[in-house]
Amino acid sequence: MSEMTLTDLDRRIWDDELADFVPANVIDAHSHIYRWAFNLDPHKESGPFQKSIGAHFPEVSWKAADAVDAVLFPGRTISRLSFPFPFPQPCDFAGSNTFVAGEVANDPASAGLMLVHPGMGADEIEATLERTGLIGLKPYLFYSQSGKPMESCITDFLPEHQIAVADRLGLLIMMHVSKRDAIGDPDNIRDMVRLSAKYPRAKWILAHCARSYSAWAIEKAAAHLRDLPNVWYDTSTVCESDSLDALYNGVGLDRIMYGSDDMIGPMRGKYITFGRAWAYLSSENHNLALSHCDNRMTFIRYEQLRAMKRGARYLGLTAAQRQALFHDTARNLIDSVRNRIAR
Ligand SMILES: [Zn+2]
Repeated sequence: MSEMTLTDLDRRIWDDELADFVPANVIDAHSHIYRWAFNLDPHKESGPFQKSIGAHFPEVSWKAADAVDAVLFPGRTISRLSFPFPFPQPCDFAGSNTFVAGEVANDPASAGLMLVHPGMGADEIEATLERTGLIGLKPYLFYSQSGKPMESCITDFLPEHQIAVADRLGLLIMMHVSKRDAIGDPDNIRDMVRLSAKYPRAKWILAHCARSYSAWAIEKAAAHLRDLPNVWYDTSTVCESDSLDALYNGVGLDRIMYGSDDMIGPMRGKYITFGRAWAYLSSENHNLALSHCDNRMTFIRYEQLRAMKRGARYLGLTAAQRQALFHDTARNLIDSVRNRIAR
């Protein structure tokens, strides 16, 4: 993990812009704990993730995650909501879930979610949850039954019999919505409204500001989603302050939680947006003219924190609201699920 040394640029951004924003105690509501070995694709070394996590972060144990946080968030205490990395099929689901459960057990204040695919029956899911102590489900669009992962409806990769398990047991669901317009797509809005009402005890977290990397998607969806009592949001890897501003104002601060998407967050670069597009910009995939300025990149996580901070400039955050964003909301959500399962 050679990138995990702070440069003078990183240090300057942390000291000047971020150190006064990140509180002492943090719960990271979106983090992946995994081994590259759980990616069973025989061609994975030439596959889509080789250049990113395959090369930089092939083994993310609890200790490795702590080491990254110690560098990026100096002096902070971190707990996590963690789940496996959703490698495309063939993926070792059993190995992934056993590993994350074992690693999460290092910190009693942390919790984990189970990686699921649509073929899993209710019995299999319940047995795994019972065996591992995981407190919710992590579906992913790669496993969609529609054959079109990027254009899937929620139930194409999280069938209703699985949502019914989450409802019955009061579990979390970490949802990365599909489709080009993400949460701005009318199907996704309609499904979230319908499913959250039909299964009221399931607790949804819509990842990446409901996958609104720019403001337009959540601007369209917020009015429909803001009164749903069982829907939360994480801010992982969204680097545009206009998106955070739209989320804070659109759904309310009390629903929003810091997340890192580690080990994506510790990669250098930024998620940039234009038109209705968004993409990961890194030092390897652009040819911008930069000779007039410092051309180095900092961590995606630092760009995200800049956006979280500046997106709140007009709203203004009290110390208590900042504490809720980075810790209390996630703490209460995790505890509410644990208490229900323990009963
Ligand atoms: Zn993620």
